[in-house]
Amino acid sequence: MAAGEDSSVSVRDLDIAFGAHKVIAGLDLEISPGEFLVLLGPSGCGKSTLLNAIAGLLDISDGEIWIDGKNVTWAEPKDRGIGMVFQSYALYPRMSVEKNLSFGLRIAGLPKSEIEARVKRVADLLQLDGLMRRRPSELSGGQRQRVAIGRALVRNVDVFLFDEPLSNLDAKLRNELRVEIKKLHQRLGNTMIYVTHDQVEAMTLADRIAVMRGGVIQQLGAPKDIYRRPVNRFVAGFIGSPG
Ligand code: ADP
Ligand code: MG
Repeated sequence: MAAGEDSSVSVRDLDIAFGAHKVIAGLDLEISPGEFLVLLGPSGCGKSTLLNAIAGLLDISDGEIWIDGKNVTWAEPKDRGIGMVFQSYALYPRMSVEKNLSFGLRIAGLPKSEIEARVKRVADLLQLDGLMRRRPSELSGGQRQRVAIGRALVRNVDVFLFDEPLSNLDAKLRNELRVEIKKLHQRLGNTMIYVTHDQVEAMTLADRIAVMRGGVIQQLGAPKDIYRRPVNRFVAGFIGSPG
């Protein structure tokens, strides 16, 4: 099979270096359509670097990235068919929630009726209806992050990338939003690649987990398989099973 033919996202033999510092070396990863794939690993292991490479936000040294059967290795971020949610909300502070949700679509020149329909659907999905006129400063942290998720969802793409979207929230909100993200995935059925260093998040959200260390995927598999049969002491320690 050629790279990416049957996969939603395909990373082939990826190398990334910052100067002399090689962060990702020879990484391969195939993600199926509709899969919830979690990249799990300690701080500094290269999770964000890999995600940003898939998003087209940094220069790679070598390798290929395919999304939805297309080689996007040299494509602009906006042409990759992905939506991305970051750890910090990055909302436009002077715009209302409604404008934050619709801004990208207006820039892209979509017809007004289409923009309204998409914003309404996302507001329903994320229970933002009562908040549409507020500005980010008038929202709680959890509400802000729901808007940030909404801004990715209005793009109507097949692949969503999340980089530690819940790590700035307190434990209670984290649990609530985790459940919401799980439900969203079940309703939308799209592909999600979700970066976290939190084992509980990984175990509860993932169809498969890729456990990373030092820019290398140590183990890739269903949560219960990794938990029961970690391939090495690092994975065993990180997933938290006795091993
Ligand atoms: P993670 O998201 O798993 O915490 P990162 O992907 O952010 O890890 O970082 C992986 C490694 O690459 C770290 O050693 C980090 O210091 C380094 N790194 C990340 N971004 C840059 C950059 N823009 N310039 C130089 N080094 C970087
Ligand atoms: Mg990171």
